[in-house]
Amino acid sequence: MTTLTKTEDAPAPTESDAFLSVRDLRVQFSTEDGIVKAVDGLSFDLQRGKTLGIVGESGSGKSVTNLSILGLHNPRSTKITGSIELDGEELVDASTKRLETLRGNKMAMIFQDALTALSPYYTIGRQISEPFRKHTGASKKEARDRAVEMLGKVGIPSPQTRVDDYPHQFSGGMRQRAMIAMSLVCNPELLIADEPTTALDVTVQAQILDLLKDLQQEFGSAIILITHDLGVVANTADDLLVMYAGRAVERGSVREVLKAPQHPYTWGLLGSMPQLSSDVSEPLRPIPGSPPSLLNPPAGCPFNPRCEYRDLVEGDRCVTERPLLPAGRGAACHLSAERKQQVFIENIQPRLG
Ligand code: SF4
Repeated sequence: MTTLTKTEDAPAPTESDAFLSVRDLRVQFSTEDGIVKAVDGLSFDLQRGKTLGIVGESGSGKSVTNLSILGLHNPRSTKITGSIELDGEELVDASTKRLETLRGNKMAMIFQDALTALSPYYTIGRQISEPFRKHTGASKKEARDRAVEMLGKVGIPSPQTRVDDYPHQFSGGMRQRAMIAMSLVCNPELLIADEPTTALDVTVQAQILDLLKDLQQEFGSAIILITHDLGVVANTADDLLVMYAGRAVERGSVREVLKAPQHPYTWGLLGSMPQLSSDVSEPLRPIPGSPPSLLNPPAGCPFNPRCEYRDLVEGDRCVTERPLLPAGRGAACHLSAERKQQVFIENIQPRLG
């Protein structure tokens, strides 16, 4: 499994043999209203050939984390501290030029909305072949051949002719496939997929997720899959990081987290998902309240204003003391292990079916 080796608050070890190693990452934005702590002390490792799912609501810090890895924040309004090592190379203080080189041939991103990410003015083939030419120095003919090959790999029928189509001539699912082809054209070793299937219907969603898994096997890439939907990671990711208010609140293998989740926020996420086994007349249970302001997050546990279990913790720890995420499998919550298990068995498991 992907090893996540240190708490979010303690200084993390500097050495790691992981392909991607993130240590005590903090990302802050300056706004007119003050400093937004979008990511607040995050550490994890990801190995080659593995997929890490990062789940959480909007504003949890998952996309900000990944834009930091790619070096896509505006340095004038963003302060990034901590360490992001990709294959042993530090990215936090890397030059813009170096990051540009790494984006495309070492790391790439698949965006949520292919229609926005693809230019309407250029053919699909040109948009796939240009980055290949830029990063490899290939000729026009070689790059076109490569675009045809990549379209074939992602399952576009008749790639020799469809390579000259414009994005509007492709269906939504085909555009998403074309964007995956564009992301993979230089064989990136790290692929970041941000809600890659949100805009697609369920059947196409499953096809795209299967395609990502197949391509991962072929290319051996490490993948970060960002989503708000635990159902998406269930069959795709090896490990899971649950984020809330810029922090990791639970982690473990996908199997461990989905079978026996330990954090009240993860319970809430699971409870708000439709279950195959549940009665269709039973309403979904959204998590009450909304995510906190990152300008002024609550003291103690950031989930405390929404948590229905905080009275089970002795004293006022939930509102005064920040819970730490233990090393390895675990959750950042003051509930005792026995309490967590009891609540899960009595209140959560029956709802999940
Ligand atoms: Fe709820 Fe307290 Fe655990 Fe936070 S620390 S999730 S408020 S029980």
